[in-house]
Amino acid sequence: AAAAAAAGPTHDAAAVPAPDSGVQVVVRIRPPCRVDEEEAGEDGRGPQVCVRKTAVNSVAIQGQDFTFDAVADAISTQEDIFNLVGLPLVENCLSGFNSSIFAYGQTGSGKTYTMWGPLSALSEDSVSSERGLTPRVFEQLFSRINEEQVKHSDKELNYNCICSFLEIYNEQITDLLDPSQKNLQIREDVRTSCVYVESLTKQYVFTMKDVTQLLVKGLANRRTGATSANADSSRSHCVFTCVIKSESKNPEDGSSSTRSSRINLVDLAGSERQKLTHAAGDRLKEAGNINRSLSQLGNLINILAEISQSGKQRHHVPYRDSKLTFLLQESLGGNAKLAMICAVSPSQSCKSETLSTLRFAQRAKAIKNNAVVNEEKVEDVNALREQIRQLKDELHRVK
Ligand code: ADP
Ligand code: MG
Repeated sequence: AAAAAAAGPTHDAAAVPAPDSGVQVVVRIRPPCRVDEEEAGEDGRGPQVCVRKTAVNSVAIQGQDFTFDAVADAISTQEDIFNLVGLPLVENCLSGFNSSIFAYGQTGSGKTYTMWGPLSALSEDSVSSERGLTPRVFEQLFSRINEEQVKHSDKELNYNCICSFLEIYNEQITDLLDPSQKNLQIREDVRTSCVYVESLTKQYVFTMKDVTQLLVKGLANRRTGATSANADSSRSHCVFTCVIKSESKNPEDGSSSTRSSRINLVDLAGSERQKLTHAAGDRLKEAGNINRSLSQLGNLINILAEISQSGKQRHHVPYRDSKLTFLLQESLGGNAKLAMICAVSPSQSCKSETLSTLRFAQRAKAIKNNAVVNEEKVEDVNALREQIRQLKDELHRVK
């Protein structure tokens, strides 16, 4: 409620409840693949699935029930996911909160489909129903910025959005907007304790065309590794970041305020246990390193869930032990709203990975973040001048 009060100008879309300080966890069960349908018996009962949605926010697997903030299944659309997760993200962001969405799950469960959608749906003026979360988020962001500017036309309200796109692969950061920039380093600004990637390409975006161009370019530069265990597994973490700054000036009294917020849209590497069969040399090292960022994410989620549940502080939270957790530390237990989309496959052959993703999702649910509005106000300048004048008068009288 406090967050809503601080949110300032809102909009009907905000009727979707923004998550409070807890992590918003949404499970998405993808439609069965053709293989599952072939597995289906001839009794016409449809494919044998290992997990079922049992209510708007719960699933059942192996006789166990799990409850989350929401569950999407085979009949849920990309628009449904946007309404659940994307709309509140945009509102939070315009209110000055840092906000992140992570897609977690095993390879093939639908993370990439959820975050960006198929490449064919990303072409410039596409209105394909398959567009993923990211293009929809920006479409909404631009439309809301426009609305805010019209609504507050008595003030000078200016926004700018600056994007970057990177990949963490084998514990090395590559700039997806300029892949010649490899092995970039994470730095921390000592003054603001802000974490950033040194010399990463930053690009202003003003229109949907700008955004889709960046996405198409970046996704084309993403690498995928082929191992004998998994021919086209996604072995990298991709992070699309946008910093939104707004400055509002009131010409009548000279007051002004600036807000800035950051959106991170994260498509994680496949969460399946790496099978090390036939992996040797570089491949083996890679598997270890890929596991480092993901297993460190899992460790942090356990630690933060424990802190939230016990109410006890812990002196050292090992954010810096992997690139992913170092870079995204503010999203994990820090100053940011976090939504986690946990993607699962209903296939019988994926049962153990699906169960492990649901357990991960349940632990994530316990985390509390501490998001605050990032705002700086310049007090009413005229009022301050008046105060100075009065103090001078007083000083004069004392003399
Ligand atoms: P991941 O990124 O988790 O490895 P993908 O997003 O690449 O998985 O999904 C694997 C395949 O399944 C892709 O061809 C994708 O288009 C398809 N797919 C995944 N989720 C859905 C869905 N909800 N509806 C339709 N197709 C989907
Ligand atoms: Mg993928």
